Parts: sequence; structure tokens; C-alpha cells
Amino acid sequence: MIDLLEKGFDFNYMFEWMPSGMLVYSLARQKPLKSNRALLRLFDADSEEGFLRYGPFSAEPRPPQPFGTLQEKLALLPPDGSHRFMIEARTDSGAYKALQVTTTHVPALPEPLLLLVFQDESKEVESARELLQSQKTLEAVINTAVDGIVLINENGIMQMVNRAASQLFGYDKEEMHGRNVHILMPSPHTEQHNGYIDNYLKSGVGKIIGIGREVEGLRKDGSRFPFKLGVSRVELEGKILFAGVIHDLTEQKRAEARILHLNKELEQKVEERTEKLTEVVNKLLQSNIKLEREIKERKAAEAALRQNQEELRRSLEKEKELSELKSRFVSMASHEFRTPLTTIASSAELLGLYTESGQQEKRDKHLRRIQSAVTNLTGILGDFLSLSKLEEGKIHINPVYFSVKELGTEVADEMQSLLKPGQRIETDFQSGHPEAYLDKKILKNIFINLLSNAIKYSGEKSTIYFKLTQEGQQIQALIRDEGIGIPLEDQKYLFTRFFRATNSVNIQGTGLGLNIVKRYTDLLGGKIRFESMEGEGTAFFVQVRWEKQ
Ligand code: ADP
Repeated sequence: MIDLLEKGFDFNYMFEWMPSGMLVYSLARQKPLKSNRALLRLFDADSEEGFLRYGPFSAEPRPPQPFGTLQEKLALLPPDGSHRFMIEARTDSGAYKALQVTTTHVPALPEPLLLLVFQDESKEVESARELLQSQKTLEAVINTAVDGIVLINENGIMQMVNRAASQLFGYDKEEMHGRNVHILMPSPHTEQHNGYIDNYLKSGVGKIIGIGREVEGLRKDGSRFPFKLGVSRVELEGKILFAGVIHDLTEQKRAEARILHLNKELEQKVEERTEKLTEVVNKLLQSNIKLEREIKERKAAEAALRQNQEELRRSLEKEKELSELKSRFVSMASHEFRTPLTTIASSAELLGLYTESGQQEKRDKHLRRIQSAVTNLTGILGDFLSLSKLEEGKIHINPVYFSVKELGTEVADEMQSLLKPGQRIETDFQSGHPEAYLDKKILKNIFINLLSNAIKYSGEKSTIYFKLTQEGQQIQALIRDEGIGIPLEDQKYLFTRFFRATNSVNIQGTGLGLNIVKRYTDLLGGKIRFESMEGEGTAFFVQVRWEKQ
């Protein structure tokens, strides 16, 4: 140095042209003594004189001064050594610059001086400030995030925890910081977790990373809660970190459970209601069935009642008819009985008179008259009995096998005693094979009735034709006479009870016989018809069938 000075080396010049801003400051006088060009440039100053007077040392306030003013800093400086600090200074152009100041005490001069070297750090400070700002923003975002966020390193150590996460797990942030994330997991996840990270780091295949899944968290107080975990891998300055976002599912689960519970309750209610409804429907159905049964029973009862009423009506009618029949019979009998009874009485009286032996013929005559009158009376009574039996439904069909010829002969024989003088019955009987199968008694009754009419309503010396023919299972009968015949206008009433034709009033009769014949024929399921001409004669045709036995 001395050599250089001796050789006239200008240190002032070197100071002047140094690339860094430099300032020589007198501690004793507390004022700047010298500044170089670079410093003037730094402060946009025009002249050194102005700069030294007003420059960075002006007391002009400029809030905020994060680094403090240069005077303040210098006042606090220790008395020796080299020191570094930051200031923020206003340049002459009005801009503020962040400057790094390095001070060096220079003690060996007539008065102790301070050499200050200024370095413009504005850019760095600005970017640091920006970084800080963005960090703060990020921090604010992370801290105010609703979901919990936990940042762990590859060893599972928690690097950062936000407020939500600390609240969720019930720890202070500081308690969590630096501890293994295991403390937040219930067994067996704890044991699996390390292996899981290792596995992921080795294979690059993750179960949660980038996917998200539902897991259980363990609170500081030992309680557990469900949450959805989303993990993303973060690479920061060559370090691998994992950021876990924790979305609490407690409420959701509670809501789900509540919904489930409500659903179950609803289902149960529906089931209960359905059961009740089914019960009601069943009861309804049952009462319906009961009602239907009752209706049916009532209908049956009504039908029975109607039938009873009908039967009652019918039996009343029958009763009425019978009593009518009886009263008519009484009136008829009083009239019809009188003649034969008078005959009997007078003949009996006369019989008493003919005592002599030569009077036998007369006695016989009166005896015959008595006999005939009795037969007459018996016939009337027989008709009446038959009719009342028919009316009461007491006559039952009783079929038997018989020969048509035998029946015909039997009937014809019985009729002989009734024949008038000179009257005769011409018969023609054709039996069949096998024999006829009918109620013989009824059939006989029919023929006797018709034959007695034929005898009664035809004159002496007339012929009565009695023809019976069996054709298979059918009998055809013909009873024809040459008598008085039936007037045309009376023919339609012929089978009516008590009806007597106008031309027969002088002949004894009750008007019952043909009615009985018709009813007997009906009973046998047969048919009866007649042909008659007044004054010429009458023919009755009877046809009866039977079923094979
Ligand atoms: P009844 O002979 O006792 O009067 P019926 O019932 O047998 O009663 O006959 C009814 C009526 O039919 C008779 O009164 C008579 O007028 C008429 N009649 C029946 N058969 C004959 C016949 N063969 N010829 C003429 N008239 C007959």
C-alpha cells in the first residue's frame, strides 16, 4: 500500500469508481463525509454535496420503515467490527429501495471512521415480500379451509396442520406438528400406514392417493369419527410430501343413519299399517262372507216361506175344493139318494105285502129293484170316495203284469148285471207279449166307468162295443155305444166335475164319473178323447203306455 501511495496511486479515484455504493461516515461528528458515484446512482442523486446534506440521512418520515432509518441503525451499532443490516431509503426520484448496508469501522485514522457499503436488495426484498404475501394468503386459505388439511413427509411426520384439522382431531396445532400422523389413526390403520407409504414410494401405486376414500380418524380423546380422505402427492424442493384433505363425514353419517333409521321406522309403520289394513280387509271379507251367507240363508228362508205359503194356499184351495165338493155332494146326494132310497123303501114295503107263495115273481122283481138301487147308491158312494182320494192325493200307482184279454173279460163279465133288456156287449180283446204292465185296478175302474155310462146312456136292445188292443207297450181301448150321444155345445165341459149334459137330466147321474176317469188316465200318463153325435152314439178312446221293466 505504502508502495502504491509512494508511487502516487490515487485511492480516491479507486473509491470513486467502486461498483458498489460506498460512504465514509464520521462517527464523531455523526455526518457523512464522502460518497462514491455508485452510491449517488443508487439514490438517483445529482450531486454529492446535495446527497451528503439531504440524502439518506434526511429526517423525512416515511411509514412504514420496516428496516428502520440509517441513523437509528448507526446509533445502535457496536463500537467496532463489521456489521450488516437492512434499511429502506427514499431516493431523490421518490422511489424507495431496500438496501443492505455493510459497515466497517476504520479506527486507524486521525478520527475513527465508518465505511458503509450499500447493496441494492430491493428486488430480493420485493420477491421475498411477495412470497411472504402469497404464503400468508395460502396459509389463510389453508387455515380457513372447512376441510382439515395435514401435510406429512415421507416418514409420516406432520409438517403442517390447518385449524380445521386440529379442531377435528382435538389437538393444538403445535401438538400435532412434528409428530407422526399415526396418532390420528385408530388401529389397525396405524400399523399399516408406514408400510403403505413405503409401498407407494416404491411402486407408485396408491390406494388413497389421487383417489380418496372413507376412513376413520382417532381424536385426541380416543373417540373416532368417519371422514373422507383425499391425499395428493406434493413435490417441494426435491422433497416428497403428502397432503391429506380431511372431510368430516360425522354429520353426513349421522344424517345417513338418521335417514336409515327414519326409513326403517317408515318401513315398520308401512308394515304395521299394511298389517292393520290386511286385518281390516280380512274382517271386511269375513263380514262380507257372513253377510253373503246371511243373505243366502234369508233367501232360502224366504223361498221356504214362499213355498210354505204356496203349499198353504194350495192346501187351503184343496181344502176349499174338498169342502165345496162335500157340500155339492151333499146337495147332489140328497137329490140322487132320494130315488134309490124311495125305491128301496117302497119295494121293501111291497115285499112285506107279497106273502103268498104264488107271489114269488113279484117278490123277485122288488128284490131286483132293491138290489139295483143299492148298486146305484154304492156306485155313487164309490165315485165320491174315489174323488176324495184323488183330491187328497192318496192314490198311488201300483203296476202289475196282466193279460189284456183277462182284464177285458173280467170287466165285461162284471157289466153283465147292469145291462138293460136286450143290451149286449160285443168284445174284441188283443193281448200282447210280454204282458201289459200297468196299474190294473185303475185301468179296470176307467173301463167300468165308461162301460156303465155306455149302458146307462143307450137304450134297450142296443150293442155296446168294448175293444182292447195291446200294441207293444201300449193299450188302446174303445168303448162305443149307440145311445143318446152328447150335444155338441156340452162336449167341451164333459170332463168337468158334476157336469151333466143337457140331454141326460132325466137319467140318474152325479157328473163325477168322467171327471174321475180323466184323472185316472192322467195318473197313468195316458190320453182320453171321445167322439159323439147326439142321438147316434158315443165312442171313448183311451190310450195308455208303460215303460219296459
Ligand atoms: P153321470 O153319468 O153320473 O151323470 P158322468 O160324469 O159319468 O156322470 O157323465 C157326465 C155326463 O156326460 C153325463 O151326465 C152325460 O150327460 C154325459 N155322458 C157320459 N157318457 C155318455 C154316453 N156314453 N152317452 C151319452 N152321454 C154321456
